Amino acid sequence: MFKPWARPLLNGLMNILYPPVCFLCQRSLFPAESGQCVCPSCLASIEMNSPPFCSKCSRPLKKPARAFCHNCQRSNFHFDNVYAACRYSEPFQRLLHLYKYGNLTAIRKIFASRMIEFIDTHQIPVKDYQLILAVPLHPVRQRERGYNQSELLAAELAGHYRIPFRNNILKRTLYSPNQARVSPKQRWTNVESAFKIGSHSCITNTNILLVDDLITTGATLSSLSGVLKAGGAKKVSALTAAIAE
Ligand SMILES: [Zn+2]
Ligand SMILES: [Zn+2]
Repeated sequence: MFKPWARPLLNGLMNILYPPVCFLCQRSLFPAESGQCVCPSCLASIEMNSPPFCSKCSRPLKKPARAFCHNCQRSNFHFDNVYAACRYSEPFQRLLHLYKYGNLTAIRKIFASRMIEFIDTHQIPVKDYQLILAVPLHPVRQRERGYNQSELLAAELAGHYRIPFRNNILKRTLYSPNQARVSPKQRWTNVESAFKIGSHSCITNTNILLVDDLITTGATLSSLSGVLKAGGAKKVSALTAAIAE
């Protein structure tokens, strides 16, 4: 509709008529911040996940003398490790809600940069992984939402670390109700046999990094890791934007 040269002009005009505001506090963003969707003070209030945390799933430890969290002590998770960048507190919770249900896909940049910061700070050996996969949505859910929020994060991280990313290997075959509204026990039941692998050849003997937005009980990531290992993967770890305590 518009000539290519007219687009920057139009964007500039739109910024004057409708100045961009912070998604969280609604304060107007300065021209230098207009590429961001959240103002610097809201950004700084996102709580990073920091030690002491569980050496398997990076859940914050209530008793720092222990190596593993309560969850990892009593569950036999199929994943090798989970690396979680942020705590699932405010304003992360509100931001994640906007990202998943508000069609605000630009928020992926905020989460991906926090994940990169976590990896670099804690020297997570991401280069040991040859393949990045995202936790899949059921096709019906993906059609409703229009995108898979974990896939967008996975693509950002794969681009940053130059690790191959594939979005056609894992399939979610079970359409489960909103996981946020079900009990932890029900959640475990729902994810069992919820996934299948479309193509086995490229996962054989491969170290895989699974990307997801949030880890809660670990049921989904464990189930997927089990499926990938049964399909021939050597090591499966997960990287999430946040962890719910
Ligand atoms: Zn703000
Ligand atoms: Zn743990």
